[in-house]
Amino acid sequence: MSDTSSQTRAPVAVLGAGTMGHGIAQVSAQAGRPVMLHDPSPEALEGGLRRIRANLEKGVELGKVDPAERDGALERIRPAGTLQEAVAGAGVVIEAAPERMELKRSLFRQVEAAAPEDALLATNTSSLSVDEIARELDHPQRFLGLHFFNPVHIMALVEVVHGPRTADETRERGVAFARELGKEPIVVRDSPGFASSRLGVALGLEAIRMVEEDVASPRDIDQAMELGYRHPMGPLRLTDLIGLDVRLGIAEYLHETLGGERFRPPELLKRMVAEGKLGRKSGQGFYEWDD
Ligand code: NAD
Repeated sequence: MSDTSSQTRAPVAVLGAGTMGHGIAQVSAQAGRPVMLHDPSPEALEGGLRRIRANLEKGVELGKVDPAERDGALERIRPAGTLQEAVAGAGVVIEAAPERMELKRSLFRQVEAAAPEDALLATNTSSLSVDEIARELDHPQRFLGLHFFNPVHIMALVEVVHGPRTADETRERGVAFARELGKEPIVVRDSPGFASSRLGVALGLEAIRMVEEDVASPRDIDQAMELGYRHPMGPLRLTDLIGLDVRLGIAEYLHETLGGERFRPPELLKRMVAEGKLGRKSGQGFYEWDD
């Protein structure tokens, strides 16, 4: 693997132009990197490019993005018709395809065959094991997780997830790359829920158990965290925004993988999901939503 400085301006290949991929492409281009954006769906690729343009326009309107930065970023992003074309000259490859183990494994087998030998290979998975995704790679030492948050152009955090076979140098390159994009990296060992979901879900489940036990109203439980701990949003409102079904799925996964009682889904959560109270997207969760 070559040193990081020779990779500084090497292109970033982003695989998947959906919710996360378009944002990763955008922030990489804003940081001055040439970007190759690939999606097997032409509609998704066009949609991703449209969203990037809209985000940058909004940034200019709000005075957060300079018009020259917008134009430069848009010029640096190129759509790629095939995965091979996208990764051929890449210094960093970031996969943001759907959350399916077999799909991600197969993508990285193709990436390994087509990308330069010293390219950093990263998955944006939010829940799968990084080491399992890398299982069939010839060089798993250059593979890691770079877990961005939605919306990527706004959220500062990136979890740099290293598996047992990730090289120290790879981890450091991941940290440096996240900083280059203006993000705040944290380093996390490959373990269920990484740091963010594990802590966030623990707080959310305890808040739901408190509603179940009639300790306080959802609004007052949220205010305990908002006013008492300066959280920007309480755990129940956040659960409504994420979706109660999504939260339940993650809790079940963490309960199975980490064991013990900590992540056992509360009955109230299961009941609300069964009743279709999924939070904001269904209009009803711990709060009523009319948007
Ligand atoms: P999404 O469904 O919005 O986008 C996925 C895109 O991948 C789609 O455009 C799809 O056409 C494309 N795709 C399908 N097959 C592909 C292939 N073979 N090669 C390349 N692209 C392919 O999904 P998303 O929300 O952007 O999630 C992508 C990844 O990011 C997942 O692993 C997810 O767990 C993770 N993630 C999501 C969030 C979030 O809040 N949505 C946050 C952090 C991480």
